[in-house]
Amino acid sequence: MAKRDYYEVLGVSKNATEDELKKAYRKLALKYHPDRNPDNKEAEEKFKEAAEAYEVLSTTEKRKRYDQFGHEGVSSTFGQSGFQWSDFSHFSDVEDIFGDLFGGGGIFGEIFGTGRRGSSSRRGVRGNDLQYNMEISFVEAASGCTREISFKKKSVCETCNGEGVKPGTSKATCQQCGGAGQIRLSQGFFSINRTCDQCGGTGSVIKDPCPTCKGSGRVLKDKKLSIHIPAGIENGSKLKLSNEGEDGAYGGPPGNLYVAIHVTPHPFFTRQGNDIVCEVPISFPKAALGGEVEVPTLDGKVKLKIPPGTQSEKIFRVRGKGIPDLRGYGKGDLKIKIVVEVPTKLTAEQKELLEKFAQISGEDIYPMMHSFFNKVKHIFKG
Ligand SMILES: [Zn+2]
Ligand SMILES: [Zn+2]
Repeated sequence: MAKRDYYEVLGVSKNATEDELKKAYRKLALKYHPDRNPDNKEAEEKFKEAAEAYEVLSTTEKRKRYDQFGHEGVSSTFGQSGFQWSDFSHFSDVEDIFGDLFGGGGIFGEIFGTGRRGSSSRRGVRGNDLQYNMEISFVEAASGCTREISFKKKSVCETCNGEGVKPGTSKATCQQCGGAGQIRLSQGFFSINRTCDQCGGTGSVIKDPCPTCKGSGRVLKDKKLSIHIPAGIENGSKLKLSNEGEDGAYGGPPGNLYVAIHVTPHPFFTRQGNDIVCEVPISFPKAALGGEVEVPTLDGKVKLKIPPGTQSEKIFRVRGKGIPDLRGYGKGDLKIKIVVEVPTKLTAEQKELLEKFAQISGEDIYPMMHSFFNKVKHIFKG
């Protein structure tokens, strides 16, 4: 098909002014606008033809070349397949020309990727995610546990099956969006889709609401769940229970339930990764002479051998008595940290014995003390 002369397309003379071009284009564009000619291929072609003519004639340099060489003179400014909407450069003019009249027509929407066609229409409203705060003990966290929880959540209304309509009635198509659930807002050639506020994006409205849920499709219900807490869980972790959050409305999917874990501190165990640390005080004579001490573990007590001359802060590892790894990589250790305790409230007899002990001991039996004061002596000599 031979290309029509651009002046002929717009119906203007060869020496038409800028203003005359705009007016002619506006007239044609309104006449052939796809919104006014739905599914009319011919109108769409005419609309595009007018835009192409306007694109060339409204650009001084292109118009000059067209006047001189005809279609050949401007074809190189378009791609191989000729004029495309992406070549159109007069968006500000178009806004000026159409103002609010411009309805954000189908093909423009498609060009700029906001078209209604092909975009899936949303169904229903997704339920909200919920969070349940759970407190568990140190031992429960280490060994795992199962907890029953109960809470209230929005659940599908049984009267209307979550549809929100009075049984026996049905929904009506939303007048505002025509059932699409989206409203297109246009500015010039650009348009954006916004969720319809009349129907909340569902595309339909309820004429006779369900008496139980007042049309919301959901009612608050008590919910009981049994939650398994895996052994080795850490303070501050969140467990995700898919689809256990609020139910969706009008056929929408449910949200998720998150269980936030708070581990209460233990009176004598602290956690260090998968290891458990426990400070164990021993007496000064036991530290010096050695002996045995009973230490607590997660599952009962064990005897720990204290070698003679054990210093404070010495750590003994009890292998495999820590916390099981959450991913199943074995168990941590129990780290016993020795604290040597100095006696208080001595009787006269005890004092006397200790003083005697000090007299016959000297400093050489205290290796740390000996070495420390030797260094001090060295630095401050002279
Ligand atoms: Zn609507
Ligand atoms: Zn209902």
